[in-house]
Amino acid sequence: MTLYPEPRLFIDNRWLATSETLPVLNPATEDEIGRLPVAGQAELDLALEAAERGHRIWSRTAPRVRAQIIVKAAALLRERMNDIAPSITMENGKPLMQARLEVIRGAEFFEWDAGEAQRLFGQVVPSVPGIRYTVVREAAGIVAGFSPWNFPLSQPARKIAGALASGCSIILKAAEETPAGAVHIARAFQDAGLPAGVLNLVFGHPSEISSYLIPQDKVRVVAFTGSTSVGVHLTEMAARSMTPVLMELGGHAPVIVCDDVDAQAAGVISAVRKARNSGQVCTSPTRFFVAEKRCETFARAFAERAARVRMGNGLDPATEMGPVANIRRIAALDALVEDARAKGARVLAGGTRPKGPGYFFPVTVLADVPDNARVMTEEPFGPVAIINPVANLGEAITRANALPYGLASYAFTHSAANVERLTNEIEAGTLSINTLEASVAEVPFGGVKYSGHGREGGSEGLHHYTVTKTISHRME
Ligand code: NAD
Repeated sequence: MTLYPEPRLFIDNRWLATSETLPVLNPATEDEIGRLPVAGQAELDLALEAAERGHRIWSRTAPRVRAQIIVKAAALLRERMNDIAPSITMENGKPLMQARLEVIRGAEFFEWDAGEAQRLFGQVVPSVPGIRYTVVREAAGIVAGFSPWNFPLSQPARKIAGALASGCSIILKAAEETPAGAVHIARAFQDAGLPAGVLNLVFGHPSEISSYLIPQDKVRVVAFTGSTSVGVHLTEMAARSMTPVLMELGGHAPVIVCDDVDAQAAGVISAVRKARNSGQVCTSPTRFFVAEKRCETFARAFAERAARVRMGNGLDPATEMGPVANIRRIAALDALVEDARAKGARVLAGGTRPKGPGYFFPVTVLADVPDNARVMTEEPFGPVAIINPVANLGEAITRANALPYGLASYAFTHSAANVERLTNEIEAGTLSINTLEASVAEVPFGGVKYSGHGREGGSEGLHHYTVTKTISHRME
């Protein structure tokens, strides 16, 4: 297998090229590594027709058989991990080890949802004598899915897993900047024997594809992961045809560090986590609210570890953090850091990007950041952390909840009373205590407020891809 796969559209079990193409760049070198086909209306119509046929076959396929094919594709991804990981690193920049873990994580999403496919239970509801009320859950139909570039394989995996396990077919528009992850998934499903048309993969101009697919009658679910602004736009579009949406959007995760923990250790763990995927994770820990008396120790430990993060090409085994994924992130991060600095924030680590090719931005630690700095409210989506002191837990919770986002949240404490209060009062889809892991396949993941709605994974992961039908049967 070559290091980087030739990206193609995958429609009706066929790999298609188009005359219009877009470049795929390596963010570590800025070199072109591939040309991506652009789907126009003709290709989207082919995908819609294929997905309609695919749904007809797949929704009538026994859940056990669906699960077997999904598990087989997941096994192929695991087997091919060492071939797939370099292509993820090349297109996204992340270190090879993180790319390998991403392949495993994608496989886990498939395996979990394959299990759930066999537990799409209905109900028999006691009511009026002589009439039997049953409730069944059916595959919703064709899903239009949109996945972003920060996890080129595991983000498409989430959408494809939920849709296919439910018996839906899907047209996925994966991210143009990072097509290889989704291409590898489509190859695995083709090799696992998925019927034609069940999984279709397209790339192109995002707004043209979404504005063509979403209003189609045949499309019954829209599933999107990306920024809040695009999510709101796609939700409005879907509302015109009453198409339900699953939206996994931005976050600005708070981390509350209480006065009863080892602030030194918490600072080190936090710096390492901040560097993961160069901070381009919707759950990335970003706003650290630290008990006053622990703040200096925490900030020093964080900054020292951050300054030691080895930044470089993700293909180099010594690299701890790769570049950010594209030039837009560099511009956004520069602007946020400069604004915070100008408004009085102290820069404890990072802040200036190195010279040379590649979209590199160091882990940047900002302390005592005033509330009017843009970074306090705008998601940096990069390796930038904010460390501010708080007088008590009440103040920390108020500040954590102050933003319109509510995706991941974190706290470090050993006090049961603090945990109880945090559990009751934090407004977020996930709360992680004494760990900076926010999501595994087995538990539901999603947000509140402007971080979106609907859940992926866990026992709720298939809900958005199914519709409930009630049958009333008079039996005399
Ligand atoms: P963006 O808002 O332009 O795009 C975000 C994603 O949406 C991309 O994958 C893009 O291809 C897609 N997109 C954009 N316009 C679309 C449209 N009209 N129809 C369909 N898809 C469309 O921003 P960006 O510069 O690519 O990413 C930066 C922001 O995106 C970050 O600030 C972050 O909030 C968000 N983001 C979130 C996640 C996540 O996991 N929730 C992942 C990637 C990006």
